[in-house]
Amino acid sequence: MFRMDEFSFIDSIRQPSYCQAGLVKGIGDDAAVIRHAYQDLVTAVDTVVESVHFLRKTMDPYHIGYKALASNISDLAAMGAQPAYYLVSLVRSPEWTDDEIQEIFIGMKELARAHQMDLIGGDTVSGSVLMLSVTVIGLVEPGKARYRSDAREGDVVFVTGTLGDSQAGLHLLLHDEADPDGSVFIDRHQMPSPRAAFALKLRPLSRVALNDISDGISSEANEIADSSGVDLYLEEKQIPVHTGLQRFPRELQEQWVLAGGEDYELIGTVSPAEWPLVRQAAADLQLKVTQIGHVAAKQQEQGAVYIRKQGAYELLEKKGYNHFK
Ligand code: ADP
Ligand code: MG
Repeated sequence: MFRMDEFSFIDSIRQPSYCQAGLVKGIGDDAAVIRHAYQDLVTAVDTVVESVHFLRKTMDPYHIGYKALASNISDLAAMGAQPAYYLVSLVRSPEWTDDEIQEIFIGMKELARAHQMDLIGGDTVSGSVLMLSVTVIGLVEPGKARYRSDAREGDVVFVTGTLGDSQAGLHLLLHDEADPDGSVFIDRHQMPSPRAAFALKLRPLSRVALNDISDGISSEANEIADSSGVDLYLEEKQIPVHTGLQRFPRELQEQWVLAGGEDYELIGTVSPAEWPLVRQAAADLQLKVTQIGHVAAKQQEQGAVYIRKQGAYELLEKKGYNHFK
């Protein structure tokens, strides 16, 4: 059971006021009520489990909350949806103090505020390890959700930000490597920035396929190829990496960039005609966006991803990020 009584806990996490106009009833009854007449609701859930998705050594409670919500916002971004609401299911183990639990909620609250999201409900129970399950609800104009199945032959393949940073940060945290320039990577691991604002700027586009990079680009690119029934051709040299990544061993760099997870950038494909709009959207937000390849008709029965490292293209298999065993 809870050390802090359940009512004062719920009181402490409850927002004094809400920002979403569509919210009819927030925390305080058996369920929340929301009303949106002319929008499609987009919803997703993501769960993190202590020792599986994070270690206490690498993540403060604040980061655990922040990142759990960030990964969900990233899913909304990949759908082209405006983040609006979230619900939190918490399984708490005796090793976690009241203050630590509060910090988890503060981490979520700060990111939520930046995206004008309201915490509208959840559940709180006891268990043997900490688990945090976050459900998000976003809004999109009817019929305007962005699907990974929308890639077409001739498209430009692009990616936001830089890849591999999060795994570099995790590496530094796990190995206690003193690195004066390591904080960029550590921040990217602990407090990733989901690209929701960028995705919303793409609203005027007639078509764009989007997927967020939670498991690594080899995995996400294959998901696009697979569900769109096309082949993706990527140029390894064009994949954007932070300059500081170069001081790590080559094999690690390649693994982090292609199969590392949790960068929460977006990969997408768009027609060459609308590619300038994508670049403008990114420029408006001072976000980096880079063309890393193109889309072609599939050669086999299923869509596949090819990458050119040196010389010829080779198959890039769908291997993603492995969590702690
Ligand atoms: P019930 O017994 O009706 O499920 P609870 O006591 O579980 O109600 O919750 C009371 C209120 O507090 C509800 O509005 C619920 O959504 C909210 N709530 C409970 N736990 C959380 C949590 N971890 N995060 C956000 N809201 C929560
Ligand atoms: Mg309940």
